[in-house]
Amino acid sequence: MRIAVLGAGVAGVTAAYQLLRDGHQVTVIDREPIAANETSYGNAGMIAPGHSYTWASPKAPGILMRSLFQRDQALRLTLRADPKMWAWCVRFLWNCTADRAKTNTLRKLKLCQYSQAILHETIADTSIEYDRSTRGIFYLYRDEASFDAGVAHMKILEDGGQKFDVLDFANILQLDPALGAARGKIYGGLHGPTDETGDCHKFTTTLAEVCRSEGAEFRYGTKIAGFRTEGDQIRAVETDKNSVSADLFVLSLGSYSPFTARKLGINLPIYPVKGYSVTIPIKNMDAAPRVAGIDENFLVAYTPMGNRIRMTATAEFTGYDTSHTPADFRTAMNVAESLFPDAGDYARATYWAGLRPMTPEGTPILGQCRYRNLYLNTGHGHMGWTMAHGAARVVADMIAGRKPAIDVTGMTMV
Ligand SMILES: Cc1cc2nc3c(=O)[nH]c(=O)nc-3n(C[C@H](O)[C@H](O)[C@H](O)COP(=O)(O)OP(=O)(O)OC[C@H]3O[C@@H](n4cnc5c(N)ncnc54)[C@H](O)[C@@H]3O)c2cc1C
Repeated sequence: MRIAVLGAGVAGVTAAYQLLRDGHQVTVIDREPIAANETSYGNAGMIAPGHSYTWASPKAPGILMRSLFQRDQALRLTLRADPKMWAWCVRFLWNCTADRAKTNTLRKLKLCQYSQAILHETIADTSIEYDRSTRGIFYLYRDEASFDAGVAHMKILEDGGQKFDVLDFANILQLDPALGAARGKIYGGLHGPTDETGDCHKFTTTLAEVCRSEGAEFRYGTKIAGFRTEGDQIRAVETDKNSVSADLFVLSLGSYSPFTARKLGINLPIYPVKGYSVTIPIKNMDAAPRVAGIDENFLVAYTPMGNRIRMTATAEFTGYDTSHTPADFRTAMNVAESLFPDAGDYARATYWAGLRPMTPEGTPILGQCRYRNLYLNTGHGHMGWTMAHGAARVVADMIAGRKPAIDVTGMTMV
């Protein structure tokens, strides 16, 4: 089949890879000059089933309310006259009960675990280098009360088959001596030994090259404007250059998916949630983290990536604006300089902001919709680097008429 994949972020490129494996003829269309140049560019790099908690939880409404008045919060809501944001928030709040949070978390966990297994297959088949580390991820707590709550909280994921080790500070130092400067700041933590990390941008651009060498065509610098349809079929996608016809289309446009879907009368419950990252060159490898971690009190993630440290923070509802100011990185920089004071060349840090394509449930939207030859593969939210590989295989299975290997209840539109 001739298949056009719309979008060359990690979701689109992993879909292209899976579709090529099934023998399809694949064309990928993206407005950027290279793959993974928007949200898949500067994320925290965590392949973290151990971080599968859904954001819509019983605590979330209170956190959102507080964020209206305290602007230094990790979660920031700016009230806007945007009906789509309000509709999204209503559905998000509806998902904040304990039961729904558990259901959504376990669905996310299953997809994340499956996706990690598919990632391992892809690595075995392609030998892609992307500053991968398999030393696990720390979930760190600064005081006893938050540590106890964190350990209790992990139970849902443990029951779902995810492995964690509970550590005091001495155990943490054994796994990562670079955290010596954190003595007195970190009380204890959990270590997810099977979680891993790597540079999503490096991986995706290299996988795009693998796809190209296997016959996929990449049309970069090409803006998708709409569709030519006939009944319940799409015939072609219209772009600012020409139209691209295909037998089947896969939509993976990240936070912008709702704009394109709306041209077909399809309403996707995806809203952009902005996040910030700062990438710091390492000047002293001995002082740099060996194991990635999340400071659960400040909600800041740090990830060693080759000769760099990537710090990420903040979930902000502020529409499609990707601008940033130095104040947006203050918390992340403070955490970096307090935990790893001698590791980074902080003056040479580079700054970035991106838009997580979030659904209220935290699970992506996969598979067919009312146009029979349009498949959705979008809305991967704060875990798209982790979920993309499995989601891509699920969508390829659906297209091939195979039963996906995991239950996708709650992730489909039909
Ligand atoms: C700060 C931050 C930290 C994160 N950390 C992690 C993490 O540690 N682990 C994890 O698993 N996930 C993480 N994520 C989430 C992850 O980065 C995203 O879920 C993922 O990158 C989404 O990929 P995507 O392909 O759906 O979207 P994108 O990467 O945004 O790709 C969409 C593509 O569609 C193209 N496009 C859009 N509209 C059009 C159009 N009209 N015409 C042509 N092209 C178009 C864009 O150019 C873009 O290339 C993080 C996100 C942020 C912001």
